[in-house]
Amino acid sequence: MSEQTPYQTPLVDRLKRGFGSAAGYKAQVAAYDRVCREAAAHIIKIEAQRDDLLDRFKFLLEVTEQPPEPNCSCHICPPCSDCMDNSGLRAAIKDATESIAKVEVRS
Ligand SMILES: [Zn+2]
Repeated sequence: MSEQTPYQTPLVDRLKRGFGSAAGYKAQVAAYDRVCREAAAHIIKIEAQRDDLLDRFKFLLEVTEQPPEPNCSCHICPPCSDCMDNSGLRAAIKDATESIAKVEVRS
C-alpha cells in the first residue's frame, strides 16, 4: 500500500463533500488553494532532496577509483578473477551514470 502524502488525504475528503453553497464553494476553493500550496511546497522540498542526492551521487562517482578495462577470461575458467573483482563495481558505475542522466533530463 502506497503512503499518502500529507496533502492527499484532506483533498480527497474535501472533494467527496462537494459544494453545498456559495460560502461552501469559497471555502472549498480556499481549501483547494491551500492544498495546492502545500503540494507545491512538498514538491520544492522533494526537488531539493533530489538535487542534494544527485550532487552526492556525482561526488561519490568522482572519488570512486575506476575499475580496469574488462579483461574477462570466463571462457577459459569461469568465473574469472576480472569478473570476480570488478564486475560489481562496473555495474554500479554504469547504473549510477544512467540514473544521473535520467534525472538530469527530467529536471
Ligand atoms: Zn569473466
